[in-house]
Amino acid sequence: MIETRQLTKRYGELTAVDGISFKLEPGRVLGFLGPNGAGKSTTMKMIAGFLAPTSGSATVCGHDVVDDALAAKRVVGYLPEGAPSYGEMTTRGFLDFVAEVRGLKGAHRTQRIDDVIERLHLNGVLEQPIETLSKGFKRRVGLAQAIVHDPAVLILDEPTDGLDPNQKHEVRALINAMAKDKTIVVSTHILEEVHAVCSRAIIIAQGKILADATPAELEARSRYHQAVSLTTANAAAAKEVLSRVADVAAIEIDPQDRRITAFPKPGKQIFGAISDLLKTQGIQVSELQLESGRMDEVFRTITQGEAKQVQA
Ligand code: ADP
Repeated sequence: MIETRQLTKRYGELTAVDGISFKLEPGRVLGFLGPNGAGKSTTMKMIAGFLAPTSGSATVCGHDVVDDALAAKRVVGYLPEGAPSYGEMTTRGFLDFVAEVRGLKGAHRTQRIDDVIERLHLNGVLEQPIETLSKGFKRRVGLAQAIVHDPAVLILDEPTDGLDPNQKHEVRALINAMAKDKTIVVSTHILEEVHAVCSRAIIIAQGKILADATPAELEARSRYHQAVSLTTANAAAAKEVLSRVADVAAIEIDPQDRRITAFPKPGKQIFGAISDLLKTQGIQVSELQLESGRMDEVFRTITQGEAKQVQA
């Protein structure tokens, strides 16, 4: 559906995107993750055909974004960062305008506009100027214009940025609903988003791909993967008990919330043994949790490790 080969963008001396290659199969939601300035927006602009690559190439549904730009643009819907639109236009006026630019005509055009109005629940704000809408509604209008021509591929640049938690939840639900019949690339610097919407994540920093994996695979790289954490009023006794479990490699106590974490030796499971021993020793815990891995820690390790290498 999407393929990039050594996609590169230079701004003068700065290489914003540095040889990015990946292939995305139909029906997947790919998360582009990376710190600010990593090159996410620039990569998305090139795939969406809004910015010419300095070198390398990208194809969407087999159409080269430079040599076959019009055909490529037809199959892509793009939500730019911040979802810019024409503030003085009403929601209906703006959707009409975008449908016109997209070349939609007659009954098909009416049907497409009606469809996005319904999908994005825009009925109540059709006659309102966009500049008077709440951020959540503005983002919905942005998503509506991106899908009005029913594209096979959607490129969404930070679709939940700046929204409150309820609005974020709503936009993620919309993305999940659209994922049923579209291939989607979504950029974010919010790690929980990867879990909420993505089937695959590419981590980029300084214009390069540093990791390309499923969210579960990324979590498995965390030192917290398969660790057991607990909270108890009796920390000293709990720590002593944990130290008796053969496959526990290390124990840490968080200085802030006094949460105790036991890390397993490589490839070992410790949850059962810990749970049994705490019970037989009569130690009450208010919470006992098997950790799947901490995405923020993986992200920091991957992106800061690279930063250190570059500085060295
Ligand atoms: P991200 O989306 O990951 O935050 P961007 O793709 O926006 O990153 O930016 C990548 C790098 O390219 C940054 O260092 C940014 O300052 C730079 N950059 C982006 N657009 C331009 C431009 N038009 N001119 C010069 N530098 C730019």
